[in-house]
Amino acid sequence: MRKLIVIATFALSACASVASAESIAIKVGHLVDPAKGVVSHDRVVLIDGAKIVSITDRLPSPAPSTVIDLSSSWVLPGLMDLHTHLSYDYTGTLCANYVEHGNGYRALMGMRRAQDMLASGFTTVRDLGNAGNFVDTDLRKAIEAGLFVGPTIVNAGKIIAPFGAQQDSAPIEVGTCWQYEYIDADGVDDVRKAVRKNIFYGARVIKLVSDPRGQTHGTYTEEEVRVAADEAHRAGLTLAVHAKEDMTAVPAILGGADSIEHGYTVSDATLKLMKQKGVYLVGTEKPLSHVRLGKPANPAASEANARARVERLRRAYQIGVPLAFGSDVTEDLAGRDRGRMTSDFIEGWIDAGIPADYIVKAMTFNAAKLLKLEAERGSIAEGQYADLIAVSANPLADARTLANVTFVMKNGKVVRRHDRAN
Ligand SMILES: [Zn+2]
Repeated sequence: MRKLIVIATFALSACASVASAESIAIKVGHLVDPAKGVVSHDRVVLIDGAKIVSITDRLPSPAPSTVIDLSSSWVLPGLMDLHTHLSYDYTGTLCANYVEHGNGYRALMGMRRAQDMLASGFTTVRDLGNAGNFVDTDLRKAIEAGLFVGPTIVNAGKIIAPFGAQQDSAPIEVGTCWQYEYIDADGVDDVRKAVRKNIFYGARVIKLVSDPRGQTHGTYTEEEVRVAADEAHRAGLTLAVHAKEDMTAVPAILGGADSIEHGYTVSDATLKLMKQKGVYLVGTEKPLSHVRLGKPANPAASEANARARVERLRRAYQIGVPLAFGSDVTEDLAGRDRGRMTSDFIEGWIDAGIPADYIVKAMTFNAAKLLKLEAERGSIAEGQYADLIAVSANPLADARTLANVTFVMKNGKVVRRHDRAN
């Protein structure tokens, strides 16, 4: 408690004495380097504008106009969630979702969730579609323009899928309402065009869904994936492929995907192939606590499912697949905002027996690498954007501490500096 008061006092005095708001020094008690898994002590991080300019062992003279005291905290790069759906509410069917919530509502809902995530320490999110008519691009642009404070958003635009998208089936009279959320693309020419359309409308990552849904009509071939990967890479973007099982994951891996999303039931052979090709797994393992709070119709089956996914995470780690953190929250539980719900996913990683230092790395440095943003974000170093969080205990010893962030700085601006009420 005393520490929090100290932080608040400094913050207030900082506000009162800002001469040049551009220059900030943060006195850091314990500075975490997630890439190396080490901590250095009693450092001073100097920030000018949005970026870190140096890391030293003492305050420069004269001291910057703003000095923030985090000398009793552990400070690390902002967290990243690489699988969000900020503007999506899972209310049964895609069509119902679209009809009930217009794009304006979904943008406002997405912004609220983006800000809740930032307050929980997530300074970068990769938003993987289901965002109506490119609402995700609008969210990104509104934050980049400074209209709102929010995380860096790497958005997918519309999800590219074989005809029918993620619908099990639909009577022909209903039409193709999924096209508000997806682009139907079958064959290499369709896929190429869909990637280009997404890029035109502001996508910063490309997302394919390859999902058999009991049959093969919802899946992509290696050739189709390859054209998406080539087009994405040519534009400097990465390719994420939703693939839950071997039959969809293998063509995605061989076709050049940068990440496999979910991969819930993939075999060790597929995980080994991912390791060999350097393809990331963003596993989105739902925590058991969420399964229980969601009151599933068949609790035993749902919990067994969740445990199997955690076991797959364990296997992936043991095999050496590069892992990045991603949640895939699409439902809201009472009393838990999107930031809190996302932090809950750390539970699955701990249950999988993954060491805390690797969990920290998966939520920061690895995530930045998958986004190809590691030169800008994911570390605390000279030249990086000042996306920093603080916690009250060593996250390399216990990753649970990341669920209780006490300080958040985004692009050099303090956005939070105390414990949250919920
Ligand atoms: Zn998803």
